[in-house]
Amino acid sequence: MFERTRMNTTNTQIDTAAVQQMDAAHYLHPFTDFKDLAAKGARVMVRGEGVYLWDSEGKKIVDGMSGLWCVNVGYGRTSISQAVYQQMETLPFYNSFFGTTNVPAVELATKLAQIAPPAFRHVFFTSSGSEANDTNVRMVRRYWDLQGYKERHTIISRHNAYHGSTVAGASLGGMDGMHAQGGLPIPGIVHIGQPNYLEAGQELTPDEFGLKAAGWLEEKILEVGADKVAAFIGEPVQGAGGVIIPPATYWPEIQRICDKYGILLIADEVICGFGRLGRWFGSELFGIKPDLITFAKGVTSGYVPLGGVLVGERVARVLVEQGGEFTHGFTYSGHPVACAAALENIRIIEDEQLVRQVADDTGPYLAERFAALGEHPLVGHADSCGFVAGLNLVRKKGATVHENELFDESLGVGMICRGHMFDNGVIMRAVGERMIVAPPLVMTRAQIDEMTDLIRLCLDKTYEEIK
Ligand code: PLP
Repeated sequence: MFERTRMNTTNTQIDTAAVQQMDAAHYLHPFTDFKDLAAKGARVMVRGEGVYLWDSEGKKIVDGMSGLWCVNVGYGRTSISQAVYQQMETLPFYNSFFGTTNVPAVELATKLAQIAPPAFRHVFFTSSGSEANDTNVRMVRRYWDLQGYKERHTIISRHNAYHGSTVAGASLGGMDGMHAQGGLPIPGIVHIGQPNYLEAGQELTPDEFGLKAAGWLEEKILEVGADKVAAFIGEPVQGAGGVIIPPATYWPEIQRICDKYGILLIADEVICGFGRLGRWFGSELFGIKPDLITFAKGVTSGYVPLGGVLVGERVARVLVEQGGEFTHGFTYSGHPVACAAALENIRIIEDEQLVRQVADDTGPYLAERFAALGEHPLVGHADSCGFVAGLNLVRKKGATVHENELFDESLGVGMICRGHMFDNGVIMRAVGERMIVAPPLVMTRAQIDEMTDLIRLCLDKTYEEIK
């Protein structure tokens, strides 16, 4: 049945209604109200090239979100598909259990050790960021167990953090909506406030607020008991929570507190890694010295699923030297095809100097263009960091960001604005009334102009609609 109705997806001339009908009949999408989507019909993406996508109606769209924060080198890279093809022809799969390895996995582990901060020489592979954070939970607890600290199991995270969708990943995350389903968080995971200056920094300078927000970690450590805390986990810049860029004082103070109590620091770099913030890893930008780094997405630019944990020497030394089986892993840990894709993706990032380009050229240019959008009457605040940026939509601008008059959430202004973006050929994500982008790192200055011109047009249309 499927074969008979299957569409030729290399061709943009496909029957959108037929695909939507099959989609609604059979496909349960992630983070989706199934009933609502079945009524509306899904948008069908069929092709990508560079920073552009085409849908089944032939509409060209600027992908301001790199797929889902991952297509760092842009779409249509034939050298990645060739690397994948070749690996599939040679050895499509073998596992890394039972004392076995494979060449792409070894090469990738070695390459990651070269590009990671100096304290990192080991990697544990998974297929996703969620699995990588599950790995972190088990790994940090084993680290403490091996040293005889069996009570030291609590992990501290933050409200509005996103660390994935598995039971442990969603528990580490601080999304109320996710915790409300399935009885989360699981025991042993607690949360502190996020460093969101706009939300909680009233009466303080950003630097003062950064110290205050980091201080919540120390308060929580003392509440739980320092001898019970295994680790603190945070995204250098919170992505899914709405591109929350912390004040400059935040991470150094977090680092100081973790060091003071000997607590492991996990940097979740699933979004921030692989050039997104103009460094190979966001930790480098903020001066964080993590013990573990979670990665996924940009490691393969999303061409093939791959994730993992970079394990710093402090943890690796205990795990490797003490020995004993770490009873954890996945069928696809070190998948040769995914590793081959990652190696070619990293080669492209290096050869095209995309990290430097974001740091010195296109990142600052995106910042300039977003600052200009900040002048729009609907925008109360605009900011960016490398190749992530955001705009806060407000009813009325105030003298300071804390005096902006906000929209009633029930009006769904962010979603209205996102709708205009879709209709006008640019993808921007709405987190409440914050509109965010994370474009492919290959986006040029001219394409940044094209994207921000479209955004301005859509801000105008939103303004017209709601005023
Ligand atoms: N951690 C962060 C910071 C993320 O942004 C995400 C996904 O968006 C994840 C973990 C989960 O990754 P995955 O969806 O590959 O499981």
